[in-house]
Amino acid sequence: MKYIAYCRKSTDEPDRQILSIEAQIAEVKEFAEREGLEVVKFITESKTAKEPGREKFTELIRMLEAGEANGILSWHPDRLARNSIDGGRIIYLLDTGKLLDLKFPQFWFDNTPQGKFMLNIAFGQSKYYVDNLSENVKRGNRQKLRRGEWPNHAPFGYINDSRTKLIQIDRKRAPFLVKAFEMFSTGGYTYVDIINYFTKNKVFNTSNGDRIFHKDKMKRILGDPFYTGLMRFNGELYEGKHKSLITKKLFDQVQEIIKSRNRKQKVIKQEFEFLGLMMCKECGGAITAEKHTRFYPRTNNTVDFIYYRCSKKKGYCSQRYAKKDDIEQQIKDAVSKVSLTEFAANKFLEWANKDAEKEKTKVSGLIEQLKRELKETEEKLDRLLEGYLDKVIDSQEYQHKKNVLIQEKLSLQGRIKEISERGTEWLEPLKNFIGSALSCAKIARAKNTNHDLAIMVKTVGSNFFLFNQQLQVEYQNRGWKTLATYPLPAISDVPRPSDPDLLRDMDSNHDR
Ligand SMILES: [Zn+2]
Repeated sequence: MKYIAYCRKSTDEPDRQILSIEAQIAEVKEFAEREGLEVVKFITESKTAKEPGREKFTELIRMLEAGEANGILSWHPDRLARNSIDGGRIIYLLDTGKLLDLKFPQFWFDNTPQGKFMLNIAFGQSKYYVDNLSENVKRGNRQKLRRGEWPNHAPFGYINDSRTKLIQIDRKRAPFLVKAFEMFSTGGYTYVDIINYFTKNKVFNTSNGDRIFHKDKMKRILGDPFYTGLMRFNGELYEGKHKSLITKKLFDQVQEIIKSRNRKQKVIKQEFEFLGLMMCKECGGAITAEKHTRFYPRTNNTVDFIYYRCSKKKGYCSQRYAKKDDIEQQIKDAVSKVSLTEFAANKFLEWANKDAEKEKTKVSGLIEQLKRELKETEEKLDRLLEGYLDKVIDSQEYQHKKNVLIQEKLSLQGRIKEISERGTEWLEPLKNFIGSALSCAKIARAKNTNHDLAIMVKTVGSNFFLFNQQLQVEYQNRGWKTLATYPLPAISDVPRPSDPDLLRDMDSNHDR
Protein backbone atom coordinates (compact mmCIF):
# COMPACT_ATOMS: atom_id res chain seq x y z
CA MET A 1 0.00 0.00 0.00
CA LYS A 2 1.35 3.42 -1.02
CA TYR A 3 0.23 6.36 1.06
CA ILE A 4 0.13 10.07 0.35
CA ALA A 5 0.45 12.14 3.51
CA TYR A 6 -1.72 15.25 3.46
CA CYS A 7 -1.41 18.03 6.05
CA ARG A 8 -3.39 21.23 6.09
CA LYS A 9 -3.97 24.22 8.30
CA SER A 10 -5.86 27.21 7.02
CA THR A 11 -5.23 30.79 7.97
CA ASP A 12 -8.85 31.26 9.05
CA GLU A 13 -8.77 28.46 11.60
CA PRO A 14 -8.02 29.90 15.00
CA ASP A 15 -9.13 26.63 16.54
CA ARG A 16 -6.71 25.71 19.27
CA GLN A 17 -7.49 22.02 18.89
CA ILE A 18 -5.91 21.92 15.46
CA LEU A 19 -2.18 21.49 15.33
CA SER A 20 0.09 23.69 13.27
CA ILE A 21 1.26 22.23 9.96
CA GLU A 22 4.69 21.52 11.43
CA ALA A 23 3.17 19.61 14.35
CA GLN A 24 0.81 17.73 12.02
CA ILE A 25 3.74 16.67 9.84
CA ALA A 26 5.67 15.51 12.88
CA GLU A 27 2.76 13.50 14.25
CA VAL A 28 1.88 11.99 10.89
CA LYS A 29 5.54 11.04 10.28
CA GLU A 30 5.81 9.42 13.66
CA PHE A 31 2.55 7.57 13.10
CA ALA A 32 3.68 6.30 9.67
CA GLU A 33 6.90 5.00 11.20
CA ARG A 34 5.08 3.29 14.05
CA GLU A 35 2.56 1.66 11.73
CA GLY A 36 5.16 0.84 9.07
CA LEU A 37 3.38 2.76 6.31
CA GLU A 38 5.06 3.56 3.02
CA VAL A 39 4.59 7.26 2.28
CA VAL A 40 5.28 8.13 -1.36
CA LYS A 41 4.58 11.84 -1.08
CA PHE A 42 4.06 14.57 1.50
CA ILE A 43 1.55 17.24 0.52
CA THR A 44 1.00 20.35 2.64
CA GLU A 45 -1.55 23.05 2.04
CA SER A 46 -2.50 26.22 3.85
CA LYS A 47 -5.88 26.90 2.26
CA THR A 48 -9.24 26.48 3.92
CA ALA A 49 -11.13 23.29 3.15
CA LYS A 50 -14.53 24.89 3.41
CA GLU A 51 -14.54 25.82 -0.27
CA PRO A 52 -13.73 23.31 -2.97
CA GLY A 53 -10.90 24.03 -5.34
CA ARG A 54 -7.72 23.54 -3.34
CA GLU A 55 -4.78 23.02 -5.69
CA LYS A 56 -2.90 20.53 -3.57
CA PHE A 57 -6.03 18.57 -2.77
CA THR A 58 -6.71 18.30 -6.51
CA GLU A 59 -3.17 16.99 -6.91
CA LEU A 60 -3.90 14.37 -4.25
CA ILE A 61 -7.04 13.22 -6.07
CA ARG A 62 -5.18 13.14 -9.40
CA MET A 63 -2.43 10.92 -7.96
CA LEU A 64 -4.99 8.48 -6.56
CA GLU A 65 -6.92 8.38 -9.82
CA ALA A 66 -3.69 7.75 -11.73
CA GLY A 67 -2.86 4.87 -9.41
CA GLU A 68 0.33 6.52 -8.12
CA ALA A 69 -0.87 5.80 -4.60
CA ASN A 70 -3.79 3.97 -3.02
CA GLY A 71 -3.86 5.26 0.54
CA ILE A 72 -4.17 8.57 2.33
CA LEU A 73 -2.50 9.46 5.59
CA SER A 74 -3.64 12.58 7.40
CA TRP A 75 -3.91 13.89 10.93
CA HIS A 76 -7.73 13.83 11.04
CA PRO A 77 -10.50 13.49 8.41
CA ASP A 78 -11.36 17.16 8.83
CA ARG A 79 -7.94 18.02 7.38
CA LEU A 80 -8.97 16.36 4.12
CA ALA A 81 -12.46 17.62 3.45
CA ARG A 82 -14.71 20.20 4.96
CA ASN A 83 -17.21 20.48 2.15
CA SER A 84 -19.54 17.92 0.69
CA ILE A 85 -17.95 17.86 -2.76
CA ASP A 86 -14.44 17.00 -1.57
CA GLY A 87 -15.86 14.51 0.95
CA GLY A 88 -17.92 12.97 -1.84
CA ARG A 89 -14.82 12.63 -4.04
CA ILE A 90 -12.97 10.70 -1.36
CA ILE A 91 -15.89 8.39 -0.68
CA TYR A 92 -16.25 7.88 -4.43
CA LEU A 93 -12.58 6.87 -4.72
CA LEU A 94 -13.15 4.36 -1.92
CA ASP A 95 -16.23 3.08 -3.64
CA THR A 96 -14.44 2.53 -6.94
CA GLY A 97 -11.42 0.91 -5.32
CA LYS A 98 -8.94 3.60 -6.39
CA LEU A 99 -8.49 4.38 -2.74
CA LEU A 100 -8.10 1.39 -0.46
CA ASP A 101 -7.27 2.81 2.94
CA LEU A 102 -7.18 5.95 5.01
CA LYS A 103 -5.07 6.31 8.13
CA PHE A 104 -5.27 8.98 10.79
CA PRO A 105 -3.54 9.18 14.15
CA GLN A 106 -6.71 10.87 15.44
CA PHE A 107 -9.39 8.70 13.86
CA TRP A 108 -9.90 5.02 13.19
CA PHE A 109 -11.16 4.24 9.72
CA ASP A 110 -12.37 0.86 8.61
CA ASN A 111 -13.44 0.17 5.00
CA THR A 112 -16.98 -0.98 5.88
CA PRO A 113 -20.36 0.75 5.47
CA GLN A 114 -20.17 2.03 9.01
CA GLY A 115 -16.61 3.13 8.41
CA LYS A 116 -17.63 5.14 5.37
CA PHE A 117 -20.62 6.53 7.22
CA MET A 118 -18.36 7.65 10.05
CA LEU A 119 -15.80 9.06 7.68
CA ASN A 120 -18.41 11.08 5.87
CA ILE A 121 -19.57 12.50 9.17
CA ALA A 122 -16.02 13.17 10.22
CA PHE A 123 -15.35 15.25 7.13
CA GLY A 124 -15.55 18.66 8.59
CA GLN A 125 -17.26 17.76 11.81
CA SER A 126 -16.40 18.19 15.40
CA LYS A 127 -14.27 15.57 17.01
CA TYR A 128 -16.77 15.11 19.80
CA TYR A 129 -19.40 13.46 17.63
CA VAL A 130 -16.90 11.34 15.83
CA ASP A 131 -15.57 10.00 19.10
CA ASN A 132 -19.07 9.29 20.30
CA LEU A 133 -20.06 7.48 17.19
CA SER A 134 -16.93 5.45 16.84
CA GLU A 135 -17.26 1.84 15.92
CA ASN A 136 -15.18 1.00 18.94
CA VAL A 137 -17.92 2.23 21.23
CA LYS A 138 -20.50 0.20 19.38
CA ARG A 139 -18.32 -2.87 19.49
CA GLY A 140 -17.80 -2.38 23.24
CA ASN A 141 -21.55 -2.11 23.74
CA ARG A 142 -22.22 -5.31 21.82
CA GLN A 143 -19.65 -7.21 23.84
CA LYS A 144 -21.18 -5.96 27.08
CA LEU A 145 -24.68 -6.86 25.94
CA ARG A 146 -23.56 -10.34 24.99
CA ARG A 147 -22.07 -10.76 28.45
CA GLY A 148 -25.41 -9.67 29.91
CA GLU A 149 -24.19 -6.25 31.02
CA TRP A 150 -26.10 -3.06 30.40
CA PRO A 151 -23.86 -0.54 28.60
CA ASN A 152 -25.84 2.52 29.66
CA HIS A 153 -27.02 4.33 32.74
CA ALA A 154 -29.10 2.03 34.96
CA PRO A 155 -32.86 2.30 34.30
CA PHE A 156 -35.13 3.66 37.03
CA GLY A 157 -35.32 1.15 39.91
CA TYR A 158 -31.69 0.10 39.47
CA ILE A 159 -28.35 1.70 40.22
CA ASN A 160 -24.92 1.40 38.59
CA ASP A 161 -22.54 -0.19 41.06
CA SER A 162 -19.32 1.69 40.38
CA ARG A 163 -17.27 -0.96 42.18
CA THR A 164 -18.44 -4.08 40.30
CA LYS A 165 -19.52 -2.13 37.16
CA LEU A 166 -22.74 -4.14 37.31
CA ILE A 167 -26.33 -3.08 37.79
CA GLN A 168 -27.88 -3.52 41.23
CA ILE A 169 -31.42 -3.11 42.50
CA ASP A 170 -32.14 0.34 43.90
CA ARG A 171 -33.50 -0.76 47.28
CA LYS A 172 -35.17 2.58 47.89
CA ARG A 173 -37.06 2.98 44.63
CA ALA A 174 -37.52 -0.60 43.34
CA PRO A 175 -40.52 -1.35 45.63
CA PHE A 176 -42.37 1.62 44.11
CA LEU A 177 -41.53 0.42 40.62
CA VAL A 178 -43.02 -3.01 41.41
CA LYS A 179 -46.08 -1.34 42.90
CA ALA A 180 -46.50 0.76 39.75
CA PHE A 181 -46.61 -2.37 37.57
CA GLU A 182 -49.11 -3.97 39.94
CA MET A 183 -51.35 -0.92 40.00
CA PHE A 184 -51.27 -0.48 36.24
CA SER A 185 -51.97 -4.16 35.56
CA THR A 186 -55.38 -3.82 37.24
CA GLY A 187 -56.44 -1.44 34.47
CA GLY A 188 -57.85 0.95 37.05
CA TYR A 189 -55.03 3.48 37.03
CA THR A 190 -53.79 5.97 34.47
CA TYR A 191 -50.18 7.02 33.89
CA VAL A 192 -50.92 10.24 35.76
CA ASP A 193 -52.29 8.25 38.72
CA ILE A 194 -49.00 6.37 38.95
CA ILE A 195 -47.01 9.59 38.68
CA ASN A 196 -49.11 11.12 41.47
CA TYR A 197 -48.55 8.05 43.63
CA PHE A 198 -44.80 8.41 43.07
CA THR A 199 -44.81 12.13 43.77
CA LYS A 200 -46.81 11.64 46.98
CA ASN A 201 -44.13 9.21 48.15
CA LYS A 202 -41.34 11.56 47.04
CA VAL A 203 -40.15 9.24 44.30
CA PHE A 204 -38.76 11.27 41.43
CA ASN A 205 -37.14 10.76 38.05
CA THR A 206 -33.50 10.24 38.96
CA SER A 207 -32.26 10.52 35.37
CA ASN A 208 -33.80 13.95 35.11
CA GLY A 209 -32.38 15.75 38.15
CA ASP A 210 -35.00 14.43 40.55
CA ARG A 211 -37.97 15.98 38.83
CA ILE A 212 -41.55 14.75 38.62
CA PHE A 213 -41.97 12.01 35.98
CA HIS A 214 -43.24 12.95 32.56
CA LYS A 215 -46.06 10.82 31.19
CA ASP A 216 -43.96 9.59 28.25
CA LYS A 217 -41.24 8.50 30.62
CA MET A 218 -43.71 6.56 32.76
CA LYS A 219 -45.05 4.90 29.63
CA ARG A 220 -41.52 3.89 28.63
CA ILE A 221 -40.82 2.50 32.10
CA LEU A 222 -43.97 0.40 32.06
CA GLY A 223 -43.04 -0.95 28.63
CA ASP A 224 -39.42 -1.76 29.42
CA PRO A 225 -38.65 -5.51 29.57
CA PHE A 226 -35.51 -4.69 31.57
CA TYR A 227 -37.54 -5.25 34.74
CA THR A 228 -38.15 -8.87 33.72
CA GLY A 229 -34.41 -9.50 33.34
CA LEU A 230 -34.12 -8.79 29.61
CA MET A 231 -32.36 -5.89 27.95
CA ARG A 232 -33.70 -4.12 24.88
CA PHE A 233 -31.02 -2.30 22.92
CA ASN A 234 -31.61 -0.86 19.44
CA GLY A 235 -34.73 -2.96 19.18
CA GLU A 236 -32.95 -6.20 20.00
CA LEU A 237 -33.42 -8.26 23.15
CA TYR A 238 -30.55 -9.66 25.20
CA GLU A 239 -30.52 -11.69 28.39
CA GLY A 240 -29.32 -9.56 31.28
CA LYS A 241 -27.24 -10.52 34.27
CA HIS A 242 -29.17 -8.16 36.55
CA LYS A 243 -31.89 -9.41 38.91
CA SER A 244 -35.45 -9.06 37.65
CA LEU A 245 -37.98 -7.03 39.62
CA ILE A 246 -41.22 -8.35 38.16
CA THR A 247 -42.43 -11.55 36.49
CA LYS A 248 -42.95 -11.86 32.76
CA LYS A 249 -46.63 -12.53 33.46
CA LEU A 250 -47.12 -9.20 35.22
CA PHE A 251 -45.18 -7.45 32.46
CA ASP A 252 -47.36 -8.99 29.75
CA GLN A 253 -50.54 -7.96 31.58
CA VAL A 254 -49.29 -4.38 31.69
CA GLN A 255 -48.43 -4.47 27.96
CA GLU A 256 -52.02 -5.52 27.17
CA ILE A 257 -53.36 -2.53 29.12
CA ILE A 258 -50.92 -0.17 27.37
CA LYS A 259 -52.04 -1.49 23.98
CA SER A 260 -55.73 -1.03 24.75
CA ARG A 261 -55.08 2.50 26.05
CA ASN A 262 -53.28 3.40 22.83
CA ARG A 263 -56.22 2.13 20.79
CA LYS A 264 -58.71 4.17 22.80
CA GLN A 265 -56.65 7.33 22.54
CA LYS A 266 -56.40 6.99 18.78
CA VAL A 267 -60.16 7.14 18.39
CA ILE A 268 -60.50 10.27 20.49
CA LYS A 269 -57.51 12.02 19.01
CA GLN A 270 -58.21 11.67 15.31
CA GLU A 271 -58.58 15.42 14.93
CA PHE A 272 -55.74 16.28 17.26
CA GLU A 273 -52.87 14.08 16.19
CA PHE A 274 -50.24 16.11 18.00
CA LEU A 275 -52.09 16.14 21.31
CA GLY A 276 -49.98 14.95 24.22
CA LEU A 277 -46.79 15.42 22.23
CA MET A 278 -45.56 18.79 23.43
CA MET A 279 -45.04 20.66 26.67
CA CYS A 280 -45.00 24.40 27.20
CA LYS A 281 -41.43 25.66 27.56
CA GLU A 282 -42.47 28.64 29.65
CA CYS A 283 -44.53 26.99 32.39
CA GLY A 284 -44.11 23.23 31.84
CA GLY A 285 -47.82 22.74 31.26
CA ALA A 286 -49.16 20.28 28.69
CA ILE A 287 -50.03 21.56 25.23
CA THR A 288 -53.65 20.94 24.46
CA ALA A 289 -55.64 21.30 21.25
CA GLU A 290 -58.96 22.83 20.42
CA LYS A 291 -61.19 23.34 17.43
CA HIS A 292 -62.86 26.58 16.46
CA THR A 293 -65.55 26.64 13.83
CA ARG A 294 -66.02 29.80 11.86
CA PHE A 295 -69.13 30.57 9.85
CA TYR A 296 -68.88 32.58 6.65
CA PRO A 297 -72.35 33.96 5.97
CA ARG A 298 -71.57 35.16 2.46
CA THR A 299 -70.75 31.67 1.21
CA ASN A 300 -72.88 29.96 3.86
CA ASN A 301 -69.84 27.91 4.74
CA THR A 302 -68.27 26.72 7.97
CA VAL A 303 -64.54 26.13 8.31
CA ASP A 304 -62.79 24.36 11.18
CA PHE A 305 -59.57 25.77 12.62
CA ILE A 306 -57.44 23.73 14.98
CA TYR A 307 -55.17 25.42 17.48
CA TYR A 308 -52.60 24.13 19.93
CA ARG A 309 -52.08 26.02 23.16
CA CYS A 310 -50.68 25.77 26.66
CA SER A 311 -53.19 24.32 29.09
CA LYS A 312 -51.97 26.90 31.68
CA LYS A 313 -52.82 24.52 34.48
CA LYS A 314 -49.63 25.41 36.31
CA GLY A 315 -50.50 29.07 36.86
CA TYR A 316 -49.72 32.20 34.88
CA CYS A 317 -48.24 31.71 31.40
CA SER A 318 -47.91 34.30 28.64
CA GLN A 319 -47.79 31.85 25.73
CA ARG A 320 -50.30 32.25 22.90
CA TYR A 321 -52.04 29.96 20.45
CA ALA A 322 -50.22 28.20 17.63
CA LYS A 323 -52.02 27.21 14.44
CA LYS A 324 -52.17 23.52 13.65
CA ASP A 325 -50.71 24.07 10.18
CA ASP A 326 -47.67 25.81 11.69
CA ILE A 327 -47.11 22.98 14.13
CA GLU A 328 -47.55 20.44 11.36
CA GLN A 329 -44.98 22.19 9.16
CA GLN A 330 -42.47 22.35 12.03
CA ILE A 331 -42.90 18.66 12.78
CA LYS A 332 -42.44 17.92 9.08
CA ASP A 333 -39.23 19.94 9.12
CA ALA A 334 -38.00 18.11 12.21
CA VAL A 335 -38.63 14.74 10.58
CA SER A 336 -37.23 15.79 7.24
CA LYS A 337 -34.04 17.02 8.88
CA VAL A 338 -33.06 13.46 9.79
CA SER A 339 -34.19 11.84 6.56
CA LEU A 340 -32.12 10.11 3.95
CA THR A 341 -32.94 10.34 0.25
CA GLU A 342 -33.77 7.13 -1.55
CA PHE A 343 -30.46 7.40 -3.36
CA ALA A 344 -28.46 7.74 -0.16
CA ALA A 345 -30.41 5.00 1.58
CA ASN A 346 -29.90 2.59 -1.30
CA LYS A 347 -26.21 3.45 -1.41
CA PHE A 348 -25.87 2.60 2.27
CA LEU A 349 -27.80 -0.63 1.86
CA GLU A 350 -25.70 -1.59 -1.14
CA TRP A 351 -22.51 -1.04 0.86
CA ALA A 352 -23.91 -2.84 3.86
CA ASN A 353 -24.95 -5.91 1.88
CA LYS A 354 -21.71 -6.04 -0.06
CA ASP A 355 -19.61 -5.79 3.07
CA ALA A 356 -21.76 -8.30 4.95
CA GLU A 357 -21.22 -10.76 2.13
CA LYS A 358 -17.48 -10.12 2.20
CA GLU A 359 -17.37 -10.44 5.96
CA LYS A 360 -19.24 -13.73 5.82
CA THR A 361 -16.85 -15.37 3.35
CA LYS A 362 -13.86 -14.00 5.21
CA VAL A 363 -15.16 -15.31 8.52
CA SER A 364 -16.11 -18.75 7.24
CA GLY A 365 -12.65 -19.19 5.68
CA LEU A 366 -10.99 -18.19 8.91
CA ILE A 367 -13.14 -20.55 10.95
CA GLU A 368 -12.32 -23.44 8.60
CA GLN A 369 -8.63 -22.76 9.07
CA LEU A 370 -8.91 -22.53 12.86
CA LYS A 371 -10.87 -25.78 12.93
CA ARG A 372 -8.09 -27.47 10.95
CA GLU A 373 -5.56 -26.15 13.45
CA LEU A 374 -7.72 -27.40 16.30
CA LYS A 375 -7.87 -30.86 14.75
CA GLU A 376 -4.10 -30.90 14.33
CA THR A 377 -3.65 -29.95 17.96
CA GLU A 378 -5.97 -32.74 19.05
CA GLU A 379 -4.04 -35.19 16.91
CA LYS A 380 -0.78 -34.01 18.45
CA LEU A 381 -2.26 -34.60 21.88
CA ASP A 382 -3.21 -38.15 20.85
CA ARG A 383 0.26 -38.84 19.50
CA LEU A 384 1.82 -37.39 22.64
CA LEU A 385 -0.23 -39.70 24.81
CA GLU A 386 0.73 -42.66 22.64
CA GLY A 387 4.39 -41.73 22.96
CA TYR A 388 4.02 -41.56 26.70
CA LEU A 389 2.20 -44.90 26.86
CA ASP A 390 4.86 -46.49 24.65
CA LYS A 391 7.44 -45.03 27.06
CA VAL A 392 9.13 -43.07 24.25
CA ILE A 393 8.92 -39.91 26.40
CA ASP A 394 9.08 -39.55 30.17
CA SER A 395 6.29 -38.22 32.34
CA GLN A 396 7.87 -34.83 32.96
CA GLU A 397 8.26 -34.11 29.28
CA TYR A 398 4.78 -35.46 28.63
CA GLN A 399 3.21 -33.13 31.15
CA HIS A 400 5.08 -30.13 29.91
CA LYS A 401 4.15 -30.73 26.27
CA LYS A 402 0.59 -31.60 27.19
CA ASN A 403 0.10 -28.32 29.03
CA VAL A 404 1.31 -26.38 26.01
CA LEU A 405 -1.03 -28.24 23.67
CA ILE A 406 -4.03 -27.97 25.99
CA GLN A 407 -3.60 -24.22 26.21
CA GLU A 408 -3.29 -24.02 22.46
CA LYS A 409 -6.49 -26.03 22.12
CA LEU A 410 -8.37 -23.77 24.53
CA SER A 411 -7.29 -20.60 22.80
CA LEU A 412 -8.26 -22.02 19.38
CA GLN A 413 -11.69 -22.98 20.71
CA GLY A 414 -12.09 -19.53 22.18
CA ARG A 415 -11.17 -17.84 18.92
CA ILE A 416 -13.57 -20.00 16.91
CA LYS A 417 -16.37 -19.14 19.30
CA GLU A 418 -15.58 -15.44 19.24
CA ILE A 419 -15.30 -15.21 15.46
CA SER A 420 -18.47 -17.16 14.76
CA GLU A 421 -20.41 -14.97 17.18
CA ARG A 422 -19.04 -11.76 15.73
CA GLY A 423 -20.57 -12.36 12.29
CA THR A 424 -22.66 -9.65 10.72
CA GLU A 425 -24.89 -8.71 13.62
CA TRP A 426 -24.49 -5.01 12.81
CA LEU A 427 -26.41 -5.49 9.56
CA GLU A 428 -30.00 -5.63 10.88
CA PRO A 429 -29.85 -2.57 13.18
CA LEU A 430 -28.14 -0.60 10.43
CA LYS A 431 -30.83 -1.64 7.93
CA ASN A 432 -33.59 -0.68 10.34
CA PHE A 433 -32.04 2.69 10.94
CA ILE A 434 -31.63 3.37 7.22
CA GLY A 435 -35.22 2.23 6.65
CA SER A 436 -36.52 4.65 9.27
CA ALA A 437 -34.49 7.53 7.87
CA LEU A 438 -35.96 6.76 4.46
CA SER A 439 -39.53 6.71 5.85
CA CYS A 440 -38.80 10.09 7.40
CA ALA A 441 -38.31 11.51 3.93
CA LYS A 442 -41.50 9.93 2.61
CA ILE A 443 -43.67 10.91 5.56
CA ALA A 444 -42.40 14.47 5.61
CA ARG A 445 -43.26 14.82 1.92
CA ALA A 446 -46.71 13.21 2.07
CA LYS A 447 -49.95 15.07 2.67
CA ASN A 448 -52.58 14.27 5.30
CA THR A 449 -50.38 11.86 7.18
CA ASN A 450 -50.40 13.60 10.54
CA HIS A 451 -50.89 10.36 12.36
CA ASP A 452 -47.75 8.85 10.79
CA LEU A 453 -45.97 12.13 11.29
CA ALA A 454 -46.71 12.08 15.02
CA ILE A 455 -45.37 8.52 15.30
CA MET A 456 -42.28 9.30 13.24
CA VAL A 457 -41.34 12.39 15.21
CA LYS A 458 -41.59 10.36 18.42
CA THR A 459 -39.33 7.72 16.87
CA VAL A 460 -36.60 10.22 16.14
CA GLY A 461 -37.01 12.63 19.05
CA SER A 462 -38.30 13.26 22.54
CA ASN A 463 -38.85 16.14 24.99
CA PHE A 464 -40.87 18.29 22.63
CA PHE A 465 -41.37 21.83 23.84
CA LEU A 466 -43.32 24.72 22.42
CA PHE A 467 -42.10 28.28 22.97
CA ASN A 468 -43.51 31.30 21.13
CA GLN A 469 -45.14 28.94 18.59
CA GLN A 470 -41.73 27.38 17.90
CA LEU A 471 -41.24 23.63 18.31
CA GLN A 472 -38.10 22.40 20.04
CA VAL A 473 -37.01 18.80 19.49
CA GLU A 474 -34.37 16.73 21.20
CA TYR A 475 -33.22 14.01 18.82
CA GLN A 476 -32.92 10.52 20.28
CA ASN A 477 -29.83 8.36 20.23
CA ARG A 478 -26.64 8.93 18.33
CA GLY A 479 -27.89 7.99 14.88
CA TRP A 480 -30.68 10.57 14.77
CA LYS A 481 -28.57 13.18 16.53
CA THR A 482 -25.90 12.71 13.91
CA LEU A 483 -28.27 12.99 10.97
CA ALA A 484 -29.85 16.07 12.55
CA THR A 485 -26.56 17.81 13.14
CA TYR A 486 -24.85 16.73 9.97
CA PRO A 487 -27.22 16.03 7.10
CA LEU A 488 -25.59 13.80 4.55
CA PRO A 489 -26.10 15.41 1.20
CA ALA A 490 -22.59 14.46 0.16
CA ILE A 491 -23.24 10.78 0.31
CA SER A 492 -26.46 11.06 -1.64
CA ASP A 493 -24.72 12.00 -4.85
CA VAL A 494 -21.40 10.41 -4.38
CA PRO A 495 -21.07 8.84 -7.83
CA ARG A 496 -21.43 12.16 -9.56
CA PRO A 497 -18.73 14.41 -8.16
CA SER A 498 -18.55 15.95 -11.63
CA ASP A 499 -21.85 17.66 -10.96
CA PRO A 500 -21.04 20.03 -8.09
CA ASP A 501 -24.07 22.27 -8.63
CA LEU A 502 -26.41 19.46 -7.78
CA LEU A 503 -24.62 18.92 -4.50
CA ARG A 504 -24.62 22.59 -3.72
CA ASP A 505 -28.39 22.75 -4.23
CA MET A 506 -28.89 19.82 -1.93
CA ASP A 507 -26.82 21.55 0.71
CA SER A 508 -28.95 24.64 0.68
CA ASN A 509 -32.17 22.61 0.68
CA HIS A 510 -31.07 20.96 3.82
CA ASP A 511 -30.30 24.24 5.50
CA ARG A 512 -33.78 25.60 5.00
ZN1 LIG B 1 -47.43 27.58 29.48
